[in-house]
Amino acid sequence: MSRIYADYAATAPLAPGVAAAMAPWLGPEFGNASSLHAEGRAARDAIDQAREVLSARMGCLFAEFLFTGSGTESANLAILGTAFTHLQGSRRRVLLGAAEHHCVLHTRPILEKFGFQVQTIPVDRNACIDLTTLDDLVGEDVLLVSVMHANNEVGTIQPVAEVAALAARCGALFHCDAVQTFGRWSWSADSLGADLVTVSAHKIGGPKGVGGIFVKAGVKPQPLIVGGGQEREMRAGTENVAGIVGFAAALATSPERQGPSGFPAALAFEAAMTGHGEKTIPHDVDKLPGHVHLRFPGIQAETLLIRLDRMGVSASAGAACSSGSLESSHVLLACGYTEAEAREGVRFSFGEVQRAETGAEAAARVLEAVSAIRA
Ligand code: PLP
Repeated sequence: MSRIYADYAATAPLAPGVAAAMAPWLGPEFGNASSLHAEGRAARDAIDQAREVLSARMGCLFAEFLFTGSGTESANLAILGTAFTHLQGSRRRVLLGAAEHHCVLHTRPILEKFGFQVQTIPVDRNACIDLTTLDDLVGEDVLLVSVMHANNEVGTIQPVAEVAALAARCGALFHCDAVQTFGRWSWSADSLGADLVTVSAHKIGGPKGVGGIFVKAGVKPQPLIVGGGQEREMRAGTENVAGIVGFAAALATSPERQGPSGFPAALAFEAAMTGHGEKTIPHDVDKLPGHVHLRFPGIQAETLLIRLDRMGVSASAGAACSSGSLESSHVLLACGYTEAEAREGVRFSFGEVQRAETGAEAAARVLEAVSAIRA
């Protein structure tokens, strides 16, 4: 029985051509991009070429796209770096979406330690930002608003242009965590209306441990990592040339689509699951093309995931805590689900390359697992 990987939102396998593009930079090409000699210049050229590819897809200037060590680091830089730049300013509030990734939400205690007031922007049952509450929250003392482009757990695509307009109305900066959407279809930093955008390589078939950030010209987050002054003095440290080259190679293989049209395996899976389990997000909300999020009332996600793993299906749920067992999902709690319900959500996330038959076979195994647990 072949395994079915339905956890593309957690990470994707390397896209075709990525390992080959990276290989020279793990072997014969070993220069430090800060060195002035030929080896160093070759590394610098490779990084520049990658930056061309990434900034073009982001629709920004070459110098506005910086490399980091992960999406997590980019989001930390966007939020904490901005706060540190404005420690003495009059803008003392930061607004964070309730269903954000932990790399955004866990900046809260640090922001508070430095005297900022952090407020949560609620989401509705579909994990969609409540624009009316945001409208009430924004004001002249807001420094930064952070709302993700699409939710990594349930897949909801957020009305980021509206969020950006509300942030701009009071002169606040807007950070958008676009880790789940970059490279999946075409948008630009401008169309999001963002001043800072976080992205990551490994969700689109690039290597793990490489992130990127769009920092609009004129916006200056204070670096969180200091040293050699790399990346326009915003992120020190010798660049991961192989990883950066791999990021650009992965992006080059991902198609420029107009919107988030459903992937074949996800559509087939969803169709086969009709009438089984409860859809966390109804059809009428825009969602990520590979995502299907379901709850099976009375069955804890952990129980189902362990059985599915044994049956050759890899899927996932909310955040795993350090013991390896599952906590209630903070996203489902933010949507208004109870603690018990928030332990029942299972995320199936498919890749674009997976075929409809794979989605249908995954559904058959899920149905078998659910009936075995209920028996
Ligand atoms: N933001 C979102 C929405 C994500 O899904 C992830 C990864 O799970 C991250 C940020 C963190 O990215 P990275 O794994 O590169 O640190």
